[in-house]
Amino acid sequence: MPAKYFICPSGKTVTIETCLKACSQRCMFLPTLRAIAKASDRGLSEPSVTELIGGTREAYLKKITAYAVKPQDAVYAIHGSAVHTINEGYTEGNMLSEIRLKDEITSGKFDLYGQIIDHDEGVLGDIKVTSSYKIMKALGHYKIDVPTGEFFKTGVRKGQPKSKKQWCYNGVKMVMEWALQLNYYRILLEKQGFPVNKMVIQAMCRDNNLRVASERGIDQSIYLIPIQKISNRWIKRYFKTKARALQQALNQKKLPSICKPRERWNGRKCKDYCIVAMQCPYGAKIQIQSGKFLPEVG
Ligand code: SF4
Ligand code: SF4
Repeated sequence: MPAKYFICPSGKTVTIETCLKACSQRCMFLPTLRAIAKASDRGLSEPSVTELIGGTREAYLKKITAYAVKPQDAVYAIHGSAVHTINEGYTEGNMLSEIRLKDEITSGKFDLYGQIIDHDEGVLGDIKVTSSYKIMKALGHYKIDVPTGEFFKTGVRKGQPKSKKQWCYNGVKMVMEWALQLNYYRILLEKQGFPVNKMVIQAMCRDNNLRVASERGIDQSIYLIPIQKISNRWIKRYFKTKARALQQALNQKKLPSICKPRERWNGRKCKDYCIVAMQCPYGAKIQIQSGKFLPEVG
């Protein structure tokens, strides 16, 4: 089910239809609102690859509830769509883009395939407009404290060794969700006779040039992040299990268990990003406790 309501900056909830047709004092341009409404409705009945990567509870609630989105918070979704559209307009030559492929388990729309980086014609590319935090994690960069050899001479830490932060570049690359997504697109493409030799994410930093990004060691606006192959057997089993769990919940009209820690980003998603959090007992509790959700007064 697509989103049914918008939440205005004042906190008031209106149906998207009323907002688009009748708001007398809009909080943003009408075409922007239309694009946000469209972005929440992909017109798919079967679960997509991206839906199955998230939690089963989240996917279930998106299917069965009339949820609300805040247009002010959803602008990032149309940034991503705009970047995809721009790329799609320049795919002449040995390239394919934005084609939805499906099999008996799910369906997925890849961004780019073909000769997109070098002479290899079998490169599968995906574009992400994302935060410096996520890029830092995806690159496996992290900071550690290293002793400077000096000691504090005064204050409460007198006598203790001094340390400074040092970047390390050998951390675990946190790309599980991207790897699941691209590997399934790879399987779908290969099934159609298009071999995939490489998978690459083009991560575009949306907070590039801000101090917070440079503190995270992110000083480029675009990073190319290679994605490793995962065995077809494992990937298919994973998606099959997720698709089956979702279908079972829908058939039985039964709310699935709380999303797994990875799927709910250890709680950050429930607090700040999950659009069905208020329909989820677990998410609603977190939102109310954090004061994020303020029920409309009057
Ligand atoms: S345009 Fe903005 S303020 Fe007006 S109804 Fe829609 S969301 Fe609310
Ligand atoms: S609020 Fe958290 S647990 Fe609930 S559906 Fe959203 S991500 Fe899952």
